[in-house]
Amino acid sequence: MVSHCILNSNSKVEGLSQYEGIFKEIVDIIYDKGIGVIQLPCPEMTMYGIKRWGHVKEQFDTLFFREACKEMLKPIIGQTKSYLDTGYEVVGVVGIDGSPSCGVNFTCSGDWEGDDSSKDDINHKIKDLKEVSSSGVFMEELKKYIEEYNISIPFVAINEKDVFSSLESIKNFLNK
Ligand code: SF4
Repeated sequence: MVSHCILNSNSKVEGLSQYEGIFKEIVDIIYDKGIGVIQLPCPEMTMYGIKRWGHVKEQFDTLFFREACKEMLKPIIGQTKSYLDTGYEVVGVVGIDGSPSCGVNFTCSGDWEGDDSSKDDINHKIKDLKEVSSSGVFMEELKKYIEEYNISIPFVAINEKDVFSSLESIKNFLNK
């Protein structure tokens, strides 16, 4: 399973993608191993569309966002369960570290709310932005959901700050 934007960079907050269209280098690694791909839904695109700003985890950490993630994940869990029950192997989930939704090992955090039209507010928000060791909200919901069905799937991630730096670790993960 891969985060949506690995196969569709258009879903990312405008200007944030380091590749055009498909992250071909990752897809090539998966292709070379003969592994199929399930594209996870993009929760932010689904909820807020393409004109959204970048967010921090706290802004998505609400019951309604979590419930919406769970709803989006329902058909994915159904497919996964069906594959596993029939003897297929689900190799892993590839998320996007740094994302407030799809981070696996780390996500972005900050005291962000309210009107940021004044320069002071924007400076405060930029200063307050930090990386924290925690998963994004969507990945947390995916983990909870698969645990609910006693499914065990490893999670790995691409580092959003420099996606190309993650190619080696994804290759190593698939070579295990
Ligand atoms: S990291 Fe997740 S939420 Fe962000 S664009 Fe990719 S799929 Fe969407």
